[in-house]
Amino acid sequence: MSELQENLAHLRARIEAACDRSGRHPDSVRLMAVSKNQPPSRVAEAAAAGLRLFGENRVQEAKIKIPQCPGHLEWHFIGHLQSNKARDAVARFQVVQGVDSLALAEELQKQAAKQARSLPVLLEVNVAGESSKFGWNPDRLLSEFQQLNALSRLEVHGLMTIAPYAVDPERVRPVFRRLRELRDRCADLLGAPLPVLSMGMSGDLEVAIEEGSTMVRVGTALFGERPRRTVDSDTDSPDL
Ligand SMILES: *Cc1c(COP(=O)(O)O)cnc(C)c1O
Repeated sequence: MSELQENLAHLRARIEAACDRSGRHPDSVRLMAVSKNQPPSRVAEAAAAGLRLFGENRVQEAKIKIPQCPGHLEWHFIGHLQSNKARDAVARFQVVQGVDSLALAEELQKQAAKQARSLPVLLEVNVAGESSKFGWNPDRLLSEFQQLNALSRLEVHGLMTIAPYAVDPERVRPVFRRLRELRDRCADLLGAPLPVLSMGMSGDLEVAIEEGSTMVRVGTALFGERPRRTVDSDTDSPDL
């Protein structure tokens, strides 16, 4: 087995164990490979190992990389998106995770209309109120939710969050729980389910799954430590 295959087997065991503990089926959690800073060859290796869902957090990097990767992969944008990159993001990504303001949502609506498509999105919430992170304040999201939902080209599938870094992942359990509770309140406003909760990364995915995550976004635990960025020409998101 290659190192990536070993990492993947270990990751799947972690996901299964967390699902077991919380009485969930392992198929209820999707595994996203976060391929930022990784070359196309690593994406191809991950695809050959059976992964289909990939995440990138810089439009400029993705524009160059995605065409060099195997076809038929599903790509999600997972970072903070500047409005002036909305057109390229709509052209390159199946899903934009990390819609963090009404202004950005309106720009995505405009670009999706121009490109004659509908765009599935997740709304990013800054649950812990960290000043260093993007995302909605929970109260503001509730008050703007109906306006977001009125944007006809956007399909709101759920919420995403990036938890604060913690050595002990138990410490961020309340963040994941609050995202789930907020999702439930938004679903009530909508009168329809919001099935996707994108939460949990390499260090905290078990706790996120126990709190209801339906998608974990994993970079380091799959690919190993990230190489430094090679495409350096934009600043969509701060490095995590
Ligand atoms: C980099 C990144 C991840 C993956 O982080 P790891 O700790 O390497 O698993 C997940 N989500 C987002 C939004 C990221 O930018």
